[in-house]
Amino acid sequence: MRIAVLREQAEGERRVAATPETVRKFVALGATLAVEAGAGAAAGHADDAYADAGATIADRTAVLAGAAVILGVQGPDPAGLARVEPGAWVVAALQPTRTRAEGYAAAGVEALAMEWMPRITRAQSMDILSSQSNLAGYKAVLDAAAEYDRAFPMMMTAAGTVAAARVFVMGVGVAGLQAIATARRLGAQVSATDVRSATREQIQSLGAKPVFVENVAGIEGEGTGGYAGETSDAYKAAQAELVSGHIAKQDIVITTALIPGRAAPRLVSDAQVASMKPGSVIVDLAVEQGGNVEGAVAGEVVVRHGVRIVGHRNVPSRLATDASALFSRNLYNFLSAFWDKEAGRPLLPDGDEIGDAIRLTRGGQVVNPRLSA
Ligand code: NAD
Repeated sequence: MRIAVLREQAEGERRVAATPETVRKFVALGATLAVEAGAGAAAGHADDAYADAGATIADRTAVLAGAAVILGVQGPDPAGLARVEPGAWVVAALQPTRTRAEGYAAAGVEALAMEWMPRITRAQSMDILSSQSNLAGYKAVLDAAAEYDRAFPMMMTAAGTVAAARVFVMGVGVAGLQAIATARRLGAQVSATDVRSATREQIQSLGAKPVFVENVAGIEGEGTGGYAGETSDAYKAAQAELVSGHIAKQDIVITTALIPGRAAPRLVSDAQVASMKPGSVIVDLAVEQGGNVEGAVAGEVVVRHGVRIVGHRNVPSRLATDASALFSRNLYNFLSAFWDKEAGRPLLPDGDEIGDAIRLTRGGQVVNPRLSA
């Protein structure tokens, strides 16, 4: 059984879906690995390292020929899969939309969208959103520090004292928790907020100050699967007021708030940006999902009212080596968990919660209910 590892084609994508480490593990399971030339170069893995791990290196057409499983970070363009084996699995972050799924269905492949992995204990080690968000939260703080012309920790020197930076993290999921921890390690004074009240204790346990609206209906924004849901208008108004007062006193704001299936919620208005001191920095990790911050631009660092608003795209790719290591292990953990020794390949039984959640297409049809026309 052959597994193909593709070189990413999207602009700015430096990650790779298999590392020499996971290639070795797949080989140990009995698979044959074919890696597209240059696939790991931007993540620090030369072709030779893949060859040493037991893979063959070839061009895209040769790699795809005869592959039963095709691995990518971002999903390959369906148009490029016309000649692959019918029923081959495409395993990647597919950014599932109906149109894209129809493309995969037309190509005859079974498209498995790793970002729709259910948030159940069994699937934790396969969860690309968690592994990539964790690194993004860390990098967001470093990006903020790099744009900030002052220091993060308090320093008492013979020439006087440098004040600690005040960092406010909005959205305390996986990325936000790591942002809090990273900012704390750098010595900042950290506060954080979320719509899910369960995060209050998590914020405190990291030594940061929770900033929460009290006594307003709709505060509990817990939706399904541990994700955020919509909050009430009363809650939104109260939150905006509380946050306004708080933001004006911050040096750094990191926003990470997402609501699955919807545009990112707007958390910081232009007026709130204007209330911050010049030289302050905002990092909007949700910029590619519509943005939490008014005025943030995907792929740019813009200056509004003297405040730098950082809107880097694809933040995990900015840590390509570690992001690839974790992403690749997520894919390996998934495929090895479903490995059928007799068949010599992974099999995803019908009715399995994981397969049902992530399978977009099969037998030339779009089969995922989330994409029903
Ligand atoms: P996410 O990326 O979907 O969103 C980031 C955060 O933004 C969330 O905490 C969300 O509540 C918050 N948010 C949304 N709207 C907001 C608003 N208006 N104001 C402030 N904050 C807002 O979240 P995530 O990182 O995917 O994590 C969501 C939850 O899932 C967490 O509790 C996490 O621990 C849990 N989780 C569970 C598993 C598992 O069990 N396998 C895996 C990963 C994450």
